[in-house]
Amino acid sequence: MDEKIIILGAGLTGLSTSYHIGHDRCVLLEKKKKAYGHIQSEEIDGFTWDEGPHLSFTKYDYVKELFEKSVEGNFLEYEVKTANYYKGHWIPHPAQTNLFAVPEKLREECLADFRKQRKKDRESAPKNYDEWLKYAYGDTFAETFPSAYTEKYWTIEPEKLDTDWVGKRMYYPSVDDVENGAKGPLPEETHYIKKIRYPESGGYQSYGQIFKNGANIEYGSEVTAISFKEKKITLNDSKTLHYDTLINTLPLDYLISISDAPGEVKKAAQKLLCTSVLLVNVAADHPTARPENWFYVYDKDKFSTRINCTEKLSPNNAPDGKTGVQVEVYFSDEKPMNEPVDEIADKVVEELVEMGFVHSKEDVIYTHKKFIKWANVTFDLNRKEAHHKILSWLEKYGLKREADDLEPTTDWDAKLETVQKNNAELLLAGRFGQWKYYWTDDCVLRGKYIAESLSN
Ligand SMILES: Cc1cc2nc3c(=O)[nH]c(=O)nc-3n(C[C@H](O)[C@H](O)[C@H](O)COP(=O)(O)OP(=O)(O)OC[C@H]3O[C@@H](n4cnc5c(N)ncnc54)[C@H](O)[C@@H]3O)c2cc1C
Repeated sequence: MDEKIIILGAGLTGLSTSYHIGHDRCVLLEKKKKAYGHIQSEEIDGFTWDEGPHLSFTKYDYVKELFEKSVEGNFLEYEVKTANYYKGHWIPHPAQTNLFAVPEKLREECLADFRKQRKKDRESAPKNYDEWLKYAYGDTFAETFPSAYTEKYWTIEPEKLDTDWVGKRMYYPSVDDVENGAKGPLPEETHYIKKIRYPESGGYQSYGQIFKNGANIEYGSEVTAISFKEKKITLNDSKTLHYDTLINTLPLDYLISISDAPGEVKKAAQKLLCTSVLLVNVAADHPTARPENWFYVYDKDKFSTRINCTEKLSPNNAPDGKTGVQVEVYFSDEKPMNEPVDEIADKVVEELVEMGFVHSKEDVIYTHKKFIKWANVTFDLNRKEAHHKILSWLEKYGLKREADDLEPTTDWDAKLETVQKNNAELLLAGRFGQWKYYWTDDCVLRGKYIAESLSN
């Protein structure tokens, strides 16, 4: 029998890769006792909590069909409603075209700057995210809303971020929409995510079921060292394994740190930045407080950054008449967590009471906390060079470089149309394995792409 292909990590990318290659040809090494990685859902006393708000907004029919099959057609499809919280004001999303809800003085300043900005000659492209924000929205709006949010969510100043990840993720409004939105609500919503899909029950994890069925997963197998030169993996119980073909979905910075890479490559890996998220899940004994699905909080003096209510994803995610509020609080090496988790969670509960998500502290049934070390890849200005150095070194040990391997995103229509068979012995896959801005549909399609690219 052929040697098995070894896949490191049984998150969605690892599972999809094994599914597409054929589970009988693969073995997945997973450090936890559970599969699914970041798409796992946890049930606690009748509340279902995902690892941060997960929704499927994929445009790819192939992924839609697989997710649909995974839940046997039992999914919900609805339009997402989002709101922004700013110093006691609720502003519909996106705030750029809903300035009518912004306090009057600030509204006038935002408008004046925006008009000034759009009249300027645009000779050179913005060199960093700060310039992009000011270019798109004018100084006052940029500083009050997206820059403030960037420091909370990306944990660094916008000047340090590149613009290569922005794409359609950031809204570039027309002058008319901004002007009209300052007078009152626009007739049509302008947010880029319109309809989303979410499993009826079991949380987002239910979308992964189809990929996991029949997979050969060795749970509790933590990879603690790797020699690319000897093609050898060491596990936490000191067991070693040799591979012919290795597919890695573990965070690239971690993989390099436990490898036999030279010092300069390890230094490059240390330059890869990511954010970590503390999820504070608050179960409360009353119905949902607000009609929207999720919320952005701009106040710099609040830990709460993004908020969602789990029963608004699916009503089956919480007992009837109760609300499950999930708050994301972001940290990183650039913004370390300087207070104990319990103190942060207590403050978050106070913020939820102030914003009206929870009626009072006495209504809290429980507060559950979860820290996730790798949350979002940070596309800062130093990333590309460091990333390139790592991939170039790995090329000596079986990695085949790809035309878009330094790009944050992938155009799957184009990529899947031109798959070239190759004999790569080392493949990188997934959000952290490749160090990309990947959503779950990207993870599924990366698995398909890898299966199609393997020459045997
Ligand atoms: C807060 C948040 C919100 C998100 N929202 C959305 C959304 O709305 N829609 C969407 O489509 N996507 C969303 N995503 C993105 C999505 O979660 C990821 O793209 C996807 O889950 C990544 O899957 P992966 O398999 O590449 O990585 P992971 O899920 O990280 O899988 C890696 C696996 O490797 C295992 N592992 C790690 N170290 C070791 C080791 N040393 N040895 C063995 N195993 C190891 C881990 O336990 C894990 O199971 C969100 C992500 C976050 C963080």
